[in-house]
Amino acid sequence: MHTWIPPQRQLAYLTWKQIEAIDKDRSLLVLPTAAIEQHGHHLPIATDTLINNLLLGQALKLIPSEASIYTLPPVCYGKSNEHIGFPGTMSLSAATFMAVLRDLGASIHASGFKKVVLYNTHGGNTALDDVMARDLRAEFGLRTFYLSGSAGAKFPEICPQEATYGFHANEWETAVLLAATPDLVHPTEYTSNYVAHIDEPSVLKPEFAPATFAWLTRDIAPSGVMGDPRPATAENGVQWIAASAQKVAEALMAMLEFEEIVKS
Ligand SMILES: [Zn+2]
Repeated sequence: MHTWIPPQRQLAYLTWKQIEAIDKDRSLLVLPTAAIEQHGHHLPIATDTLINNLLLGQALKLIPSEASIYTLPPVCYGKSNEHIGFPGTMSLSAATFMAVLRDLGASIHASGFKKVVLYNTHGGNTALDDVMARDLRAEFGLRTFYLSGSAGAKFPEICPQEATYGFHANEWETAVLLAATPDLVHPTEYTSNYVAHIDEPSVLKPEFAPATFAWLTRDIAPSGVMGDPRPATAENGVQWIAASAQKVAEALMAMLEFEEIVKS
């Protein structure tokens, strides 16, 4: 698959002797977690994996070359059972996904690394990454971090309805792929669907509310899209990639430089 990761940041391009020589006290490993799952009629099933690689790669290009940050090959398959039933969705169970992260954590520890960040671009993995970041800290003493998608970057061009309830194959994801991999976007196939409206008074909502209901995509979005891709432009995509990369780079540097909170 296409990669935007600079070659000198790819841990997998090194020999074991080169990895042995890395100063582990001053290094950060990135373990990307993403998904292979349906993204409507207009985006490829690799969307979350492509976006992960793109934002991480662009962020790493902003980081000073002397900063010792390496990325592992991604865990491309995630927990995507909300999208089961749509051809092409390849999902791991929660138990398998967590076992993969646990075993990779054991290997990261055995390789001598001390700091690792789970960098995630699929919502279905969020809760599991959070659990595993803490479990890897507890079991192996790794200093673990979690980093999500755009790392808090703001996109004021997106309207409030889309910003709140456009969260899958939405304007943002479509614009980013229009900018990065336009050949993989099918603008004549756009569909739009909102699972809720921001001014709706209902107490129970699918996301972003104190009281939620667990949803499957087929219950709420027949085409697989949650949001409206139609306003997406490549120009916005370029801008949003840059804004995200800046925030991801800042977060990675903060993790690299993070010192233990409790001093003896
Ligand atoms: Zn996605």
